Amino acid sequence: LSSRASAILSALDIPTNQEVPGVYDGTWGGTGDILESVCPTTGEVLARVQSASPQELQTALDKTREAYEIIRSVPAPRRGELLRQIREALAAKRDELGALVSLEMGKIRTEGIGEVQEFVDIADYAVGLSRMMNGRVVASERPGHSILEIPNPLGVVGVLSAFNFPVAVYGWNLALSLAAGNATIWKPSNTTPLCSVAVTKIIANVLESNGLPGAVAGLVTGGRDVGEAVVESSSVDMVSFTGSENVGRQVGKVVQARFGKVLLELGGNNAAIVMPDADLELAVPAVFFGAVGTAGQRCTSTRRLYLHRSIAPEFLSRLQALYASLRPGDPLESSTLLGPVHSRAAVGIYSSAVNRLRNAGAEILCGGSAFSETDLVGELQGGNFVRPTIAVPKSVDVKDEIWKTETFAPILTVGVFDKLEEAIAWNNGVPQGLSSSLWTRDVRNVGKWIGPAGSDCGIVNVNVGTSGAEIGAAFGGNKSTGWGRESGGDAWKQYVRWSACTVNFSDEAPLAQGVNFTP
Ligand code: NAD
Repeated sequence: LSSRASAILSALDIPTNQEVPGVYDGTWGGTGDILESVCPTTGEVLARVQSASPQELQTALDKTREAYEIIRSVPAPRRGELLRQIREALAAKRDELGALVSLEMGKIRTEGIGEVQEFVDIADYAVGLSRMMNGRVVASERPGHSILEIPNPLGVVGVLSAFNFPVAVYGWNLALSLAAGNATIWKPSNTTPLCSVAVTKIIANVLESNGLPGAVAGLVTGGRDVGEAVVESSSVDMVSFTGSENVGRQVGKVVQARFGKVLLELGGNNAAIVMPDADLELAVPAVFFGAVGTAGQRCTSTRRLYLHRSIAPEFLSRLQALYASLRPGDPLESSTLLGPVHSRAAVGIYSSAVNRLRNAGAEILCGGSAFSETDLVGELQGGNFVRPTIAVPKSVDVKDEIWKTETFAPILTVGVFDKLEEAIAWNNGVPQGLSSSLWTRDVRNVGKWIGPAGSDCGIVNVNVGTSGAEIGAAFGGNKSTGWGRESGGDAWKQYVRWSACTVNFSDEAPLAQGVNFTP
């Protein structure tokens, strides 16, 4: 193992140069398929992770259920205290864990660390929540009766997460789920197993030092088979799935068919709209970050840019100047803004999307090809680097593949409009509905954008880019993005089982609506 990788793994207590156990249910194991963790920057194999066999998965599910029966009776504020300790333990390893995210996923260092910070933030939030997850007292129409709505724990929450946020997505789920009194079983992306092992170790230490079973926050690494088994299992009360629309569609059907609860956080195809009165000093860098940051691999990445005709030439020339400054680099170096895409497959997806744009007659303003080995120096020659691309198709037809599909790579497709209503219709005309952003200084435009005839996305920003949400608001999207909400807002209410309890403390037993049933 390179010294670069070895230092990061050792700092997180992950074995180097050997197989890494990838299943945790109170004890570590793993006798299923071997998952190779490959560094997207260099192509180096970082570790061989032992995933869950079908038998181990079953045992882990059983232990998670037993752990749930313990954690549900721990008072919520005490669960908050566990979350406070988890928060502290994560913060103590923020830089190390952030470096592992960069090493294994490929995002740049500040974003890797930012992801751990997001987990710290949501843990803080959940500590507060643990004293505020209140139910309600409802006025009863019957004398001497009270109606209570009580948020009880739900059971076992299965968290299936995507490669692009290998730490934060689990964090959002774990924090709310644990505050609510559930046990969690995590099936991370098969290409980022080391991040999940490192996070699980940190949480397991906290649980065990508090005398609680580790299976309160279990881990089953694996590929599609393990994911499918978690989704099908009737001992998983809620499946929280983050990933692609295709897989999400399957997951949704399977969980619905067994009447489980499902929370879907699927693909985005996010647009930024720039009006003539926009402050371009702010809008251009925001679109640049939205489209190129994380090498275009955020669910909220800016994929479509709709420019008002009057500012389109100037906007594009400023944006191209920023694109021209980009150099591919090691995401662990502090000067790097452009890291690799996560996998070889992603390079292929990028190239076919660019070809499709070319075949449709789009003008490629910059980028348009992957970096070849000869373009790259030293270790980077083994990495998956692509040139961020700006494409201007001949016209905008949101029913066309080039506009309506999410390509998980740094490709920005540009259209020119004359009226805001036209741009809003384009924004809303695609199947997905995650994030959207309007750039304007006119309050009348803002009113249209955030109101009933405005953006149909879950995230509707004004003078803020499509990506980079804070944890305080509920995060998620509509339509084929799955309607899920995680993190802040009322998201916690999905992680509980609501009990409507009518309590009679009178000496009569009247029926509601005055119904008389006296023999
Ligand atoms: P993916 O759908 O390929 O995989 C997601 C997870 O599902 C992984 O853990 C994978 O191993 C597992 N899986 C694969 N097939 C399965 C099956 N048949 N049954 C059960 N599980 C299965 O997604 P990805 O490529 O890892 O992530 C990228 C996608 O995730 C993009 O579409 C992106 O927009 C989306 N995403 C959405 C959000 C959001 O909050 N809306 C956040 C991050 C990523």
